[in-house]
Amino acid sequence: MRYIFKFGGSSLLDADGVKRAAEVVRNYVGKGCEVAVVSSALSEVTNQLLEVAESAESGALEPVKRMVQELAERHLTVINQSVKDEGLRRDVTETLKAILEELERVLTGISYLGELTRKSGDYVLSFGERLSTPILCAALADLGLMARAFTGGEAGVVTDTNFGEARPLMELTKHQVELRIGGLLTDGIIPVVAGFIATSQDGSVTTLGRGGSDYTATILGAALKADEVWLWSDVDGLMTTDPKVEPGARTIPEISFEEAVEMAIFGAKRMHPRALEPAMAEGIPVRIRNAFKPEAPGTLITSAKRVRAEGVVKALTLFRNVALVTVSGFGMVGTPGTAAKVFDVLGKSNVNILMISQSSSEANISLIVPRELLGRAVNALETALLGGNLIRGIEMEEDVCVIAAVGAGMRGTPGVAAKLFNAIAQKGINVRMIAQGSSELNISFAVKEADGEEAVRALHQEFKLALPEM
Ligand code: ASP
Ligand code: MG
Repeated sequence: MRYIFKFGGSSLLDADGVKRAAEVVRNYVGKGCEVAVVSSALSEVTNQLLEVAESAESGALEPVKRMVQELAERHLTVINQSVKDEGLRRDVTETLKAILEELERVLTGISYLGELTRKSGDYVLSFGERLSTPILCAALADLGLMARAFTGGEAGVVTDTNFGEARPLMELTKHQVELRIGGLLTDGIIPVVAGFIATSQDGSVTTLGRGGSDYTATILGAALKADEVWLWSDVDGLMTTDPKVEPGARTIPEISFEEAVEMAIFGAKRMHPRALEPAMAEGIPVRIRNAFKPEAPGTLITSAKRVRAEGVVKALTLFRNVALVTVSGFGMVGTPGTAAKVFDVLGKSNVNILMISQSSSEANISLIVPRELLGRAVNALETALLGGNLIRGIEMEEDVCVIAAVGAGMRGTPGVAAKLFNAIAQKGINVRMIAQGSSELNISFAVKEADGEEAVRALHQEFKLALPEM
């Protein structure tokens, strides 16, 4: 079997995390599997880099020095505690010191220029994975395994120049990755690749967007024709809902790519929105597994035809920190282009729309936007749309949340919505807005923030999500 194992930041918190990851790999290599490893930055490092880049931009050198020092201490401690062999430890320490010096120079440059661009931002963010990958590689070597570290670019991942959210040039990437690391796998050498970071065709460092190391894993999976891609983190898998909201929540054993995409969009695992694409395109199963509990089976994400049909609703996700905006006016009735205008205005002000619904009377359109962008959204809409005779009013409601019920079994099954809204009504909860995509994989609705958790619990019970599998 050929696997891609990606270790998320949450599983790489400290030396124990690094050692645990290395042991998981050794286990499977010992069974005769070919494994390519993708490493995330140590937990929270990407956020810290983002922060320090911003203070560098404002010209502050003190925080830059402090942060680089902190990163150095943390990474060097992890090396000391996870790599026993002296020679290996010395080599990786030197590698890391050079990378840390480069980081300090880059940040100093940014602070002198007082300018942080998307391009230089990606350069700074790349250091999280550039620091963690050689450590994981050394920890593998320390266990007697043959391993070699690569940045994303060195491994052959090539993207466009959309810094901050670059897209892989898939055909080129597949070709290069196979060429650069495919041979190692067959020779029994473990390539350890920095997730999240890549290179553009002209050699600039790019990133695939936050959470992008999952994406690196599936890109490599597609390029290396892996049998499966395993995403190791600190959770048992995708859950029926947030266990903090509903203690009866359980891990979903199997789910289709389409369902997982719906869940990821609604924030289930903070997964990169395109992370499943390459695996889905090639039909490569993806497993989400817990590095702290390697014996637990996790969640298998696979093509729909292989997923057992279970209950109609498989998962409930609660999406907080959103707000509802309603644009209304009789002038909108029968006037083509009104919706386009609303979306255009919001698009130009960089307001992401999470959910849309329009009644067939066409007299109003309701939208869900991130709460922190509510002010900007309403201002932009008022400036652009009020005053004419198209639109009468723009109303907003700040304290709402969205609940999404996801499951492919809803498709073509009558009565799911009735059952769902009945359960909500029985709790006396008022539904503010509803949307269902024509894919019928997802019914989403908005309620008052204060009612969100109770609504989730009511539905978890109604659809018997806590029951063990038959
Ligand atoms: N380190 C990157 C991030 O925090 C990528 C990843 O963890 O997947 O976004
Ligand atoms: Mg991460």
